[in-house]
Amino acid sequence: MGRAPLRIWRRLLPTSGPVSGSRWLMLGSSTSPATLSRTMTRGNATVPAMEMTKWFDTNYHFIVPELGPNTKFSYASHKAVNEYKEAKALGVDTVPVLVGPVSYLLLSKPAKGVEKGFPLLSLLSSILPVYKEVIAELKAAGASWIQFDEPTLVLDLDSDKLAAFSAAYAELESVLSGLNVLVETYFADVPAESYKTLTSLSSVTAYGFDLVRGTQTLGLVTSAGFPAGKYLFAGVVDGRNIWADDLATSLSTLQSLEAVVGKDKLVVSTSCSLMHTAVDLVNETKLDSEIKSWLAFAAQKVVEVDALAKALAGQKDEAYFAANAAAQASRKSSPRVTNEEVQKAAAALKGSDHRRGTNVSARLDAQQKKLNLPILPTTTIGSFPQTVELRRVRREYKAKKISEEEYVTAIKEEINKVVKLQEELDIDVLVHGEPERNDMVEYFGEQLSGFAFTANGWVQSYGSRCVKPPIIYGDVSRPNPMTVFWSKTAQSMTSRPMKGMLTGPVTILNWSFVRNDQPRFETCYQIALAIKKEVEDLEAGGIQVIQIDEAALREGLPLRKAEHAFYLDWAVHSFRITNCEIQDTTQIHTHMCYSNFNDIIHSIIDMDADVITIENSRSDEKLLSVFREGVKYGAGIGPGVYDIHSPRIPSAEEIADRIDKMLAVLDTNILWVNPDCGLKTRKYTEVKPALTNMVSAAKLIRTQL
Ligand code: GLN
Ligand code: ZN
Repeated sequence: MGRAPLRIWRRLLPTSGPVSGSRWLMLGSSTSPATLSRTMTRGNATVPAMEMTKWFDTNYHFIVPELGPNTKFSYASHKAVNEYKEAKALGVDTVPVLVGPVSYLLLSKPAKGVEKGFPLLSLLSSILPVYKEVIAELKAAGASWIQFDEPTLVLDLDSDKLAAFSAAYAELESVLSGLNVLVETYFADVPAESYKTLTSLSSVTAYGFDLVRGTQTLGLVTSAGFPAGKYLFAGVVDGRNIWADDLATSLSTLQSLEAVVGKDKLVVSTSCSLMHTAVDLVNETKLDSEIKSWLAFAAQKVVEVDALAKALAGQKDEAYFAANAAAQASRKSSPRVTNEEVQKAAAALKGSDHRRGTNVSARLDAQQKKLNLPILPTTTIGSFPQTVELRRVRREYKAKKISEEEYVTAIKEEINKVVKLQEELDIDVLVHGEPERNDMVEYFGEQLSGFAFTANGWVQSYGSRCVKPPIIYGDVSRPNPMTVFWSKTAQSMTSRPMKGMLTGPVTILNWSFVRNDQPRFETCYQIALAIKKEVEDLEAGGIQVIQIDEAALREGLPLRKAEHAFYLDWAVHSFRITNCEIQDTTQIHTHMCYSNFNDIIHSIIDMDADVITIENSRSDEKLLSVFREGVKYGAGIGPGVYDIHSPRIPSAEEIADRIDKMLAVLDTNILWVNPDCGLKTRKYTEVKPALTNMVSAAKLIRTQL
């Protein structure tokens, strides 16, 4: 049983130990001093932080290396080797995992001051000597396998990039000789051309494929063939989700692969690292046993991999397979999963269109008559600082230590404080501050049917930051209004417009563990219908401005270009469904984190929101011109005027300067003034002066127009 356990250890490593050391080649480079915070301080000067971005379409983040022609690489950290030795000393021979050299360069970006088109791959010859050093050291330490993660191979790569893989692994051939070398890909299919390049790398002895998200791989292996004598690591168990594997189906997939690659050359695997799923179901004491029987977290997935490997080797654990089949059947037939009414309503949406009846300019005119806002209106994105006291109130209410009445009183007081503060600051469109919400997705999930929650299903997002995604297991519906009471309460405290604050369907979908028994778009349509009801109830409750956050819309974009159009079509449609039937006079805002959506700007505009606020503290004027050019859009746009991820307080002059720069690109009458994102993680000592300066800057510019 040598092969499966080897694989198991490697897959568990990221969730059980320090992640970075095992996944990353720790490179030092003279132009990219890696940092863990978004703003660095050197002496008295603040240095703009390096960009942090999402690892492919996951919610895991990495800091983007900044490289240029003068970058000198050096072997800075021996963590990969030290951890290999540490495990070995404990009697476990592990497979060290390094990010492959080509993916490392392709995921980097040209440093500031370096021309944008700088060919990152030209650095291959200077980075490979460092890889050689690491490999030699691992070999000397006794490693017999080594894994390179090259997930960029699932992207659309041109022939130059593919040639870099051939060149890199040829260059490493001598140092790799004597080792078993695995190149791992994941999150999608490897395109046919790339598959050809990959499988002809002679220094590589094993290839890993994601057979869950990569639905074509099986066909490719069978039709294009697989190099004789090499291993195929078959990622049949889903590393990105929490569902128990359908073992019977996986076993038959494995058997057909075995027929192609040979009996001793097939290795059973998870589809990707287990760092993207929850750790251990054993820690879930509150989930009921029926739902629990449908799930497998990382620890359970390892057992599944092992059981599949044993079954392939003729030692099938019949009882284990039978229990799995029973759980699969119970999930298919459970009445908790199906709500026919919801299914019908969602099915009716597909293929049709849903839009507000009037165009955005006419709507904005109608809204302005009611709202009477000044030019360059000021607002915030939603949350205000979540103090220790506030978290205590929510915790005690959840634990039933304080009564509902006490809880409501405390939250009302908090809302009142936030409303009064915004009035003092003279902000134009107010928010209630979201004090009742622990998380922008969990808060809604808890009130929707079809959702379940874990107690400890944490997934690493960055460093010590983790998220705890809800599980969508059934058809989604909204039994009762979710936010109307709080929004109405907040509106009753002020004569200024109070924004109703909702999370949009696409973001709820993308930040949850989603059911795998129906297409994602169907689940998204169901959520859209639930949010639609909430939007309409808010409107009926007298709320005139409603913000529907789609923070994660960009993140769900498929990795392959050919799939973009389909995703964007149903995602944007889902958003429009939520507000297609409201009056012209109700103003719909949406907010999106990250501004890197130059390539999908037409879809963003097609969301047809009245006002869109985005993260833009880096003043990406290119993005703003895309908004202006692509469009004749007409809707309001609020590119963040300061970075809320940093404790730094921007001065009024600095913000005014930023607004001026935006006005050079955008029309005066469409620009809104707001921070980059919600203020939840900031302190009041930062928020008060920052917002004071933001409002002063807006007022100053108004006088100059
Ligand atoms: N309304 C949310 C907040 O202010 C938006 C958060 C987000 O975009 N991530 O916290
Ligand atoms: Zn945001």
